[in-house]
Amino acid sequence: MKSDNSSVRTKGRKKFRCIRTNVILWRYFALFAVGIILLVAVVCYTVLGNSLIAQQIKRVEEIGVELTDFVNDPRISDEIKEARLNEYALYDNVTVFVISEDGIILYPQMFVAPDRLGDITEEVNENMPEWNEDAVAEYNTGDGDSMTYNYVSCVRFGGTRAMLLIRYPISPIAYSIKQTQLYVILISLCVLVVAFVISYSLAERISRPIRDLSDNVSKLADGDFSVQFTSTDYAEVATLSDNLNYMRDEIKKSDDFQKELLANVTHDLKTPLTMIKAYASMIQEISGDNPEKRNKHLSVIIEESDRLTGLVNDILITSKIRSGLGQLNKKVFNLTEFLYGIIAKFGYLQETQGYKIMVDVDPNMYTLADDEKVGQVIYNLISNAVNYTGEDKTIYISLKYVAETNCTRFSVRDTGKGIDEEERQHIWERYYRSKDSHTRPVKGTGLGLNIVKIILDAHAFNFGVSSEEGKGSTFFVDFPSVSSIPEDGGKDQ
Ligand code: ADP
Repeated sequence: MKSDNSSVRTKGRKKFRCIRTNVILWRYFALFAVGIILLVAVVCYTVLGNSLIAQQIKRVEEIGVELTDFVNDPRISDEIKEARLNEYALYDNVTVFVISEDGIILYPQMFVAPDRLGDITEEVNENMPEWNEDAVAEYNTGDGDSMTYNYVSCVRFGGTRAMLLIRYPISPIAYSIKQTQLYVILISLCVLVVAFVISYSLAERISRPIRDLSDNVSKLADGDFSVQFTSTDYAEVATLSDNLNYMRDEIKKSDDFQKELLANVTHDLKTPLTMIKAYASMIQEISGDNPEKRNKHLSVIIEESDRLTGLVNDILITSKIRSGLGQLNKKVFNLTEFLYGIIAKFGYLQETQGYKIMVDVDPNMYTLADDEKVGQVIYNLISNAVNYTGEDKTIYISLKYVAETNCTRFSVRDTGKGIDEEERQHIWERYYRSKDSHTRPVKGTGLGLNIVKIILDAHAFNFGVSSEEGKGSTFFVDFPSVSSIPEDGGKDQ
């Protein structure tokens, strides 16, 4: 058996000096087995032995009373009495004597050596000094292997006063009890050994899955995500394994996300930073005095700075959402007004770059949602439409009440080249960017639609995209329609 103490662990974890579960379980099982066996032994030695002898003595007493009454009955002839006495002697394993007052054996009709007869009468006289009709004496004679129980009463037999002596040998019962007790001890010892072995293996069986889980958790803590928490027959351990597998997957996802984030951020930050540095150097060395070239180079720097800002913002939003999505700050608000506010942010595109934003919005549509996060969703979808729309630089925004679903559908349509079916499966994934998106000057990070998905999933809102190649894409979100603002402002519903 292994040591009682758990092994000493390093790597900044606590060192426990506790008794192992299987040893504790084994001790309890073993203690239980010892207890049961002790109980059986006590029962066997006290209750069983005493009650068996007591039962037999009681039976002999009953026989004594029955026979005394029977023999004393004057209506019954001596022959019938003798026949009854024979019956008892035969079937109840008792020896019956009827001895007259002057020491003659009246029953059974057999010769008893005078000294033996003298001993018997002496014994009886000693134990029953008074001879009257109701007198009864009970006593044991002999000891050890020859112990006998005697029942004596006064009767009238063959017309004379006599004593009825019933003898019952106790020693065979005592012997049987002793033998039984010996067997009980032997069997108990065997059972004890078997109980120790079984309880040890049982304790092992119960504690092994827990030890395996603990070992795997240690491996997981050391960063090994390949560990598999296997299920067992025990429901609690199976649930724990299941939860640990889930926890491992979540930690892995988070770990992957961090690695991916680092790789992407490093990559995405590098390109604009290189550009900014290159163009700044160009201004310093070449175009500083040429206003036309300088402005061109400066606008590249500004564009790249914007891209950097967008990237940093998206990363911040993603991590913020991932860390705090549990707490959606829902409230009822006017979606129409809210949407106008966001569209206004894109006004500069209409003024400076010739974009056309066509708006078709139902007035005063209310919804219940986290307005800050919904703002992010709408902003990202409009940004994408602006970024990916076609040569006509037109995007269509609509907000319409749909009676069948009692929802207000927000949709934004562009006239770009659309998204093919295969690509549509991936656009919601983190860092997904179409292969050719780098061919056009789009300030994208590949996080925008993932942010949209996380926020809308958290709200459990219906959303999606439809697209026709060469004609454009339409992204939509169904906001639950709420008639008006409740008195408490609809906060945190
Ligand atoms: P990005 O920052 O690259 O726009 P998003 O997560 O917003 O990242 O979008 C992921 C990808 O989905 C984009 O790279 C693009 O390929 C595709 N996409 C998103 N919106 C549109 C759209 N309106 N038209 C065509 N493709 C789109």
